[in-house]
Amino acid sequence: MAADPSAPCADAPSSRLRPHTRRQPWILTYHSVTDTDDDPYGITVSPRRLAEQLAWLRSRGLRGVGVAELMRAHAEGRRGLVGLTFDDGYADFLHEALPVLRRHGCTATVFVLPGRPGGVNEWDPLGPRKPLLTHDGVRDLARTGMEVGSHGLLHRDLTALTDEELRHETVRSRELIGDLTGRPPEGFCYPYGTLDRRVMEAVGAAGYGYGCALAPGPLVSRFALPRTHISQADRGVRLWAKDLRHGLRHGAVPGSRSRTASPVRAGGTR
Ligand SMILES: [Zn+2]
Repeated sequence: MAADPSAPCADAPSSRLRPHTRRQPWILTYHSVTDTDDDPYGITVSPRRLAEQLAWLRSRGLRGVGVAELMRAHAEGRRGLVGLTFDDGYADFLHEALPVLRRHGCTATVFVLPGRPGGVNEWDPLGPRKPLLTHDGVRDLARTGMEVGSHGLLHRDLTALTDEELRHETVRSRELIGDLTGRPPEGFCYPYGTLDRRVMEAVGAAGYGYGCALAPGPLVSRFALPRTHISQADRGVRLWAKDLRHGLRHGAVPGSRSRTASPVRAGGTR
């Protein structure tokens, strides 16, 4: 009988040397993929840099997949995968990121905003304005075989909403995406990475199977999966350091203490 892959690893030094066997699977956070110098929030990676990063992952024996597939593989003890996520549902995903992902044999989860079809990232005051997927774009995205997840309806800080507004953001976005893709989304991604227990429970009650946060926090669980922000500056050594840091943090399991306070707002601002 194989060892339980989810069992806590008592051999910490060894797990540090082999971070891909750690308990928490590694999930990377991207946003927009395009060529630009105007990127005050550090949310844009060029297609060329994305290709370099995917090649680096492959050199480490890792292939990128969507989070639902990653979770299933992890539960079955399959390794060699890393989660790729693209937040906000930028329209550039289809023509910039997708060809690169396909060339590298990767899939990903794209967290879309069905309440802002064809809109822009108005929540980033400094801009630049980046177009979001239209509803047709979300349909096209689903047809590519990529996983479509929900980022809520409008990109609001869910911890600041009333119970009714929170239900609307979680339940209605799931219904809309289900109508567009023919399949209710399994994944939810918290705007700004902010969540608390009430928000997390609302996501579970809405029928989602997992929730993506940003940095590890006190609520780390299937509904607060920590992720690693990836930027244009991330190449070999920086990626290696981020991989290692995630491996070292993998002890942040449900119920454990963490440096971040609740509600969680850490590891990035988007
Ligand atoms: Zn976002």
